[in-house]
Amino acid sequence: GLIEQQVVERAKEAFLGGRTRPLEFRLQQLKALQRMITDRQTEISTALKQDLNRYDTPLLELISLENEIALAIEKLAEWAAPRPVEKNLLTLTDEVYIQPEPLGVVLIIGAWNYPWALTLSPLVGAIAAGNAAVVKPSELSEYSALLLRALLPRYLDKDLYPVITGGVSETQELLKQRFDHVFYTGSSAVGKLVMQAAAQHLTPVTLELGGKSPCYIDKNCDLRVACRRVTWGKFVNCGQTCIAPDYILCEPCIQGRVVEGIRQTLLEFYGADPKCSPDYGRIINQRHFSRIMGLMEGYTAVLGGQSDASQRYIAPTVLKDVPPQSRLMQEEIFGPLLPIVTVSDMDDAIRFINEREKPLALYIFCSDKKAVKRMIDETTSGGVTVNDVMMHCALSSLPFGGVGQSGMGRYHGRHTFDQLSHQRACLLRSLGMESVNLARYPPQDRHRARR
Ligand code: NAD
Repeated sequence: GLIEQQVVERAKEAFLGGRTRPLEFRLQQLKALQRMITDRQTEISTALKQDLNRYDTPLLELISLENEIALAIEKLAEWAAPRPVEKNLLTLTDEVYIQPEPLGVVLIIGAWNYPWALTLSPLVGAIAAGNAAVVKPSELSEYSALLLRALLPRYLDKDLYPVITGGVSETQELLKQRFDHVFYTGSSAVGKLVMQAAAQHLTPVTLELGGKSPCYIDKNCDLRVACRRVTWGKFVNCGQTCIAPDYILCEPCIQGRVVEGIRQTLLEFYGADPKCSPDYGRIINQRHFSRIMGLMEGYTAVLGGQSDASQRYIAPTVLKDVPPQSRLMQEEIFGPLLPIVTVSDMDDAIRFINEREKPLALYIFCSDKKAVKRMIDETTSGGVTVNDVMMHCALSSLPFGGVGQSGMGRYHGRHTFDQLSHQRACLLRSLGMESVNLARYPPQDRHRARR
């Protein structure tokens, strides 16, 4: 606990010293972070390969991170500027604005599935907003975590942005410290512990959690294209993506064609044996490997199903006619298993979705715009992409985050800046025109008599 305490104290002291206040300083730190990603591309890629057997996934990791940094650098002055608001009669001659200001020291707890993007994009917002930040990468992606710990202090202010590595006990020690905001990405179970710990200090939290993101495929759509897009989103990073389509909902009459479309796409993406494909990843560790294999028990895959524990390899797997009560349909899969559950029509799909926890994402494939709008209106989720998967996450003007069990708070682009700022209400009056104020001063009787 002593190390964690010292690190947080040092960050707090550095913050109170005031050097994060000038935008010039924040820009310089953001540019240094940008330099780190460019300079160290090779080392970062090697770490990703060691952790997840994955080459950088365009749009999902380093490129999106670079975009976030570039955007923050470009827009910082605009984001940090006072925001004038509407006035009422009583404040017509006053100065009224919202001033975004730093919160203090932010704790960022990252997840392992996109170890760079999920720890550093919150950091981009923390720096931009003028905060100090303690960064805790996931111990599961250990090569990336160790590299981050080695690199970050070489580029950024060491006191303001320290990295703490470690697992559950280190995280628990960190959570005992007093922060001004905790930004957590990971499972809903740990999210509850994070919120509980934060409550001791009345520290606000952002929780980027997971859940089962449904993917509805309507019979009225181009199934070939739909299957291609779903296959990409499901099996990229070996299914270990928080916004991956967790399962498919479709009518029984198209189920066979959906399976066929996925089969053809898998062949196209990963060849006859995905195990040999340089584009197909591995499961992060043995525990998750066993968990995912356990989910499949008792079911026969229509596609895939093969595995190799020594490599933590699980083939891209599709299961059809999966009963809604099965274990596969109770917990987030977070692996390369794609169950298909049949529904009788779109209304049935809507009912199915609404009977379950509010998901992080919802995907709708359908060519009928009216039907799509209705499905959006009658359901809820953190975000929605129609006729594609995951792409709402790549557009930083859209807030990214969950609702209900899939999380609270939002980030990406300006939303990260706002999330990690205090929106201070500022009303600046003059000492003149005192007569207008008489009505609110006591004794009230006098005024009533006058009226
Ligand atoms: P996790 O919650 O198990 O671990 C994340 C972090 O919490 C790690 O750093 C770990 O050290 C720490 N931790 C674990 N147990 C703890 C405890 N008892 N007390 C304190 N700290 C503890 O998450 P995970 O399994 O590694 O990640 C998978 C989950 O994350 C999935 O549910 C996925 O959907 C979700 N996720 C969400 C997003 C998002 O942006 N919403 C992104 C990626 C992953």
